[in-house]
Amino acid sequence: MQQVIVQKFGGTSVGSGERIAAVAEIIKNEAEINTVVVVVSAMAGETDRLIELSKLFGDNPNTREFDALISTGEKVSASLLAMALNSLGLKAKSYSAAQVSLKTTSNFSKAKILDIDKTKMEEILADGSIPIITGFQGITETGEVTTLGRGGSDTTAVAIAASLKANRCDIYTDVDGIYTTDPRIVPNAKKLDAISMEGMLELAGQGAKVIQIRAVEFANKFKVPVRVLSSFSSGTGTMITLENDTMENAEISGIAFQTDQTKVTFTAVEDTPGIASKILGPLSELDMKVDVIVQNVGIEGKTDFTFTIATEEKSLLDEAINNIQKSINYKEVIIDDEIAKVSIVGVGIRSHAGVAAKAFQALSENEINIGMISTSEIKLTLVIKKDDLEKAVKVLHDVFELDK
Ligand code: ASP
Ligand code: MG
Repeated sequence: MQQVIVQKFGGTSVGSGERIAAVAEIIKNEAEINTVVVVVSAMAGETDRLIELSKLFGDNPNTREFDALISTGEKVSASLLAMALNSLGLKAKSYSAAQVSLKTTSNFSKAKILDIDKTKMEEILADGSIPIITGFQGITETGEVTTLGRGGSDTTAVAIAASLKANRCDIYTDVDGIYTTDPRIVPNAKKLDAISMEGMLELAGQGAKVIQIRAVEFANKFKVPVRVLSSFSSGTGTMITLENDTMENAEISGIAFQTDQTKVTFTAVEDTPGIASKILGPLSELDMKVDVIVQNVGIEGKTDFTFTIATEEKSLLDEAINNIQKSINYKEVIIDDEIAKVSIVGVGIRSHAGVAAKAFQALSENEINIGMISTSEIKLTLVIKKDDLEKAVKVLHDVFELDK
């Protein structure tokens, strides 16, 4: 039976005439077997160039015109790709988001997809054409052009796959899949054949630029199987699998890490009910994201309360502390930027208490001190000193034999 496959090609994959020709061959091969719908990014560097251009008449261009301008890169690559396919004797037509009624909210530059009229796409397919759709852009109810945020073509592709109930969404990029950790730190990091959606969300959090997080969230919500693979080589990539077929996933999928973290400690706060909400409430009112939270065991009615935030939100901290001051007493606030978070990610964490023990032992044998610990269903996160990070990633990658 023919399957419906959405193929998305990123900027480097369509970065030159040669690359577009190579991509046309990939599409041709898939189209010989399956029904194909294609989504493209702008040619590599093009969106950056357009953003630069937008500053020609002032640093804060009109938001409507800004989106109208930066959405044009995808039109170019879509048309060129259609021409390349035509030259191979295939029927293909480029379409803007407006032409397939990809409706979004009206927040320019960070619009959210509301709805896609799939009848249009079905018409194109029924006519025997391969639709090449511009990623990254949409159209509002009133006909304004919007964009979805940087990297948004991934989300376009997954949304189209969801609306067509496609069998798979293939995200073609310039790396051959998702790795157990950053190969720049651990050279023998291994490509994963499969990873669960939740695992991917955790791993992608480390800043892996491979796929937009929103696209994974979308895929998870609408149950679209996604595969990440390279258009430069012929591997099978990494399948991002739905919850119920995580069976073949390794118990531990990978080691994620983040360095742009700040640790905040309120010392000698009163150890009474309500303290946590009096500290965290004012932070959430400012929309700050608090991550690892630890409250020490109280001594003589006093305790220390510590949490981490993203360093980029540090500028909001003064205002938050001002508000916190109004409702609690404490001795001082200690702010520490020299920390890092390292996380062990995998479904195995759910069922094996041994994972934590093994991690702690390996780190202590290497004299790496653990400052804070937090766990979720599929993630064990440790806060350590920034200077220890590289070593910690290597040690953990090693002890869980992720290179095997
Ligand atoms: N061209 C847009 C960008 O560079 C969208 C994308 O590539 O996904 O962010
Ligand atoms: Mg991208």
